[in-house]
Amino acid sequence: MPIITPQQMQAGYDVIVVGSGAAGGQTAYTLTMEGAKVLMLEAGRDYDPVAETPMFQTSADAPLRGVATPDKPFGFHDATVEGGWQIPGEPYTQVHQDPARQFEWWRARMMGGRTNHWGRHSLRNGPYDFKPRSRDGLGFDWPVSYDDIAPYYDKVEMLIGVYGENEGLENTPDSSPGVLQPPPAPRANELLAKKHMARLGISVIPIHRAVLTRRLDHVGLPPKLHPGNPRAQRILGKAMSERAACFWATPCGRGCAIRATYQSTTVHLPPALDTGNLDIVPNAMVREVTLDARGLADGVIFIDKTTGWECRAKARIVVLGASSCESVRVLLNSRPAQFPDGLANSTGLVGRYIMDTVGTAISGQIPALENLPPHNEDGAGGLHVYAPWWLYREQLRGDLGFARGYHIEFGGGRGMPGMGTGAGLEGFTRGSYGRRFKEDARRFYGSFMWFSGRGEMIPNEGSYCELDPAVKDRWGIPVLRFAWQWSEHELKQAEHMSETFRTIIREMGGKVLGHAANRKRIDDRAAIEKGGRIIHEVGGAIMGEDAKKSVTNQWCQTWDIPNLYLTDGAPFVGNADKNPTLTIMALAWRAADHMMGEMKKGAL
Ligand SMILES: Cc1cc2nc3c(=O)[nH]c(=O)nc-3n(C[C@H](O)[C@H](O)[C@H](O)COP(=O)(O)OP(=O)(O)OC[C@H]3O[C@@H](n4cnc5c(N)ncnc54)[C@H](O)[C@@H]3O)c2cc1C
Ligand code: SF4
Repeated sequence: MPIITPQQMQAGYDVIVVGSGAAGGQTAYTLTMEGAKVLMLEAGRDYDPVAETPMFQTSADAPLRGVATPDKPFGFHDATVEGGWQIPGEPYTQVHQDPARQFEWWRARMMGGRTNHWGRHSLRNGPYDFKPRSRDGLGFDWPVSYDDIAPYYDKVEMLIGVYGENEGLENTPDSSPGVLQPPPAPRANELLAKKHMARLGISVIPIHRAVLTRRLDHVGLPPKLHPGNPRAQRILGKAMSERAACFWATPCGRGCAIRATYQSTTVHLPPALDTGNLDIVPNAMVREVTLDARGLADGVIFIDKTTGWECRAKARIVVLGASSCESVRVLLNSRPAQFPDGLANSTGLVGRYIMDTVGTAISGQIPALENLPPHNEDGAGGLHVYAPWWLYREQLRGDLGFARGYHIEFGGGRGMPGMGTGAGLEGFTRGSYGRRFKEDARRFYGSFMWFSGRGEMIPNEGSYCELDPAVKDRWGIPVLRFAWQWSEHELKQAEHMSETFRTIIREMGGKVLGHAANRKRIDDRAAIEKGGRIIHEVGGAIMGEDAKKSVTNQWCQTWDIPNLYLTDGAPFVGNADKNPTLTIMALAWRAADHMMGEMKKGAL
């Protein structure tokens, strides 16, 4: 089971995959199951989710009761063992001084990347999302349609396990019959919100989330995913049988030792390694892609972080799946004589049109949720329901004053108490103390809810990254410099979110908390999260039909160098309100199929 050192690498591989997260994991999985010899290079350390996940520790077991610190921004028990908004020795810089024009970059440096932590929300882009320009004249159309990607959505959902339901709503695609796992029942606060949101015309439906609510069908699914490949079926069947169903008890952000939730480290990498076709070198920081005399990619140069040595690896195909902006950085840092501006950059588009998701949130206190009898509402460690965008027709008529929509994520309830639980309670208890204060604490605990928007961003010229001409990281590799700009569409969308959330809370008979209660409309625009804060980084090497206007074709294959692929979010040409990772994996599977086809034809 080769997790190897650079010294143990083979002389050459079919494919080098850079990164081990959703993109790298999916690409390596598909390739190795179909027989390709793959070398995966991962900048972070090896990580064993079965042994290292602190599933059952309480906040009291952690320093500072587990609160967020600069090196653990999501709390002490978070699965991200290395990474965050800042990584020591690996800075990034900003073009603009104005904080509103800056991008905040969240990176995970570990086996499996951000998939060990992610929220697991797994929404499909809909038909409109792939052809937005045709609909409203803004942004770009993708060179693929929903129908092209739908079979890959099905495959990824069957592989990773996604709960949810088919509701037949506009631009909110159904999965094929039998693909989804049954959704968990809504919690009390979710049912209450659903009832009141229905009165406002907002449908609340089961969210799609990558968590197993029952064991995978390890006999029936493998033949569907790998038809005609009995070896792959056997390996996948074994891997699926080793995954348990969720036991509804622990925060998924810490990781899941029983493999009930999708992480690259629990779903993609174990079967890929089982094929015997995958070697993984951890602590391998890739600096650049190398070219042969024909101008084709022939490998990469990386820094072995354990020794600081520069190493070379060789392959027929190179795939970057290091996360969108990291892949852009590798391209820009690969500057052979014939490509002084970086690889695959003949258009000058590498680094352009980076995107995040529009986000803003408001909380409220809901009297109807006070004094609920104690009950187990931990559930599947995250959302059970959500509200898809519901104003497509009004928007098309021009009634809203902004383009593109958002979905609503919301929640509340009685999570495990931590530092800060009960903070601000004195605002409700009117000075009670002693026994009365304890009664008040019980009364109000669980009566607070938050509402958060996740909205589409249209790519724009002001949001980009480039190499900083002066600053290098601890390995001597030039770092990225970011610029950011929200357009009027995103600012107005955030304003609409805030107004909607206030309306929902008031409709529920609740009280809006914080400054949001008294905000003038202009302030709602300022409440938009900074670029990067939602951690849905995509774009930077957009795909298209025209080699003069895009970096890759529809197969994530760079136009300039046919054996160089980008399978993370870099080729995204828009960032629909749907969280991006399911689409990253679907496109990566499709790209890997394309590579296999090209290799079999002898074209690569
Ligand atoms: C808190 C949080 C919540 C999220 N919630 C959701 C959600 O609910 N739904 C959703 O769709 N998405 C969510 N995301 C986003 C999701 O995690 C990413 O979209 C997804 O992980 C992207 O996959 P990736 O493979 O491109 O990048 P990553 O998962 O980040 O993996 C990239 C890997 O490449 C490695 N790497 C980077 N540079 C190099 C290099 N030069 N050489 C070698 N290796 C390198 C990194 O160490 C890392 O392991 C969330 C993210 C976070 C942090
Ligand atoms: S809630 Fe379920 S899926 Fe999440 S970590 Fe716990 S057991 Fe795993």
